[in-house]
Amino acid sequence: MLLETKNLTKRFGGLIAVNNVNFSIERGKINAIIGPNGAGKSTFFNLISGFHKPTAGQIIFKGEDITHLPANKRAKLGIARTFQTTHLFEQSTVLDNVIIGHRLRTSSTLFDAIFRTKRLKREEAQCKEKAMEVLEFVGLTDAAHKIVANISQEEKKRAAFALALATDPEVILLDEPAAGVNPDETEGLEELIVKMAEYGITVCLIEHKMQMIMKIAHKIMVLNYGEKIAEGTPEEIKNNEIVIQAYLGG
Ligand code: ADP
Ligand code: MG
Repeated sequence: MLLETKNLTKRFGGLIAVNNVNFSIERGKINAIIGPNGAGKSTFFNLISGFHKPTAGQIIFKGEDITHLPANKRAKLGIARTFQTTHLFEQSTVLDNVIIGHRLRTSSTLFDAIFRTKRLKREEAQCKEKAMEVLEFVGLTDAAHKIVANISQEEKKRAAFALALATDPEVILLDEPAAGVNPDETEGLEELIVKMAEYGITVCLIEHKMQMIMKIAHKIMVLNYGEKIAEGTPEEIKNNEIVIQAYLGG
């Protein structure tokens, strides 16, 4: 396994958003997390990526305890993520978004990100080359110089993948990548996620589109009110009574 959580818990005041979750993300696989709205899925990602500090529990990445590392250090170690709502600079080009996004993620402060731009001009060309490489990987070569505000929702999702991939991650956490895109476009994103996994990037995927999950996930964890209520292969989850009840409100 690549990443493991041990009794991971997050409280917001009186609310337990993530409750004692033990989960392992397996190397090279598509690991999925499903569950109703408010189940704690995004919070789980926020804990893994270092955006939130856990109330209790541990996060182990490649055998190392990263529970208390800041987000930028985790990004450098190879943990990348996308957000439920895409965080892109709408008035910048797709290419600039990838370049800027990479800096913001790997710098400890905004100041550092800006300062580095000036100090490391030499790296500029290299950075651009890398950005074009990831844009090609996600199928956005032709859109590289377009302003984000003018591209489609599906292209924005691809751009968000590119931002995450620019850090050369070992694991990529995708928070509802197919939300808000139409069914035709969903298939394209699905293919891209499979392509990432085939390329050797471990995927952890939160998604509501069950058809997609059932088709591409190797393993699924089900969260409900912050707790893991089931875990297994798509086939096992489909037939799990507890899961069916949680979803149908039984
Ligand atoms: P999901 O992604 O499964 O829909 P979330 O992880 O976003 O669920 O939220 C889980 C619970 O934690 C919800 O009840 C939500 O309102 C709460 N929550 C999430 N983030 C915060 C926060 N920053 N402060 C307070 N409560 C939060
Ligand atoms: Mg969420």
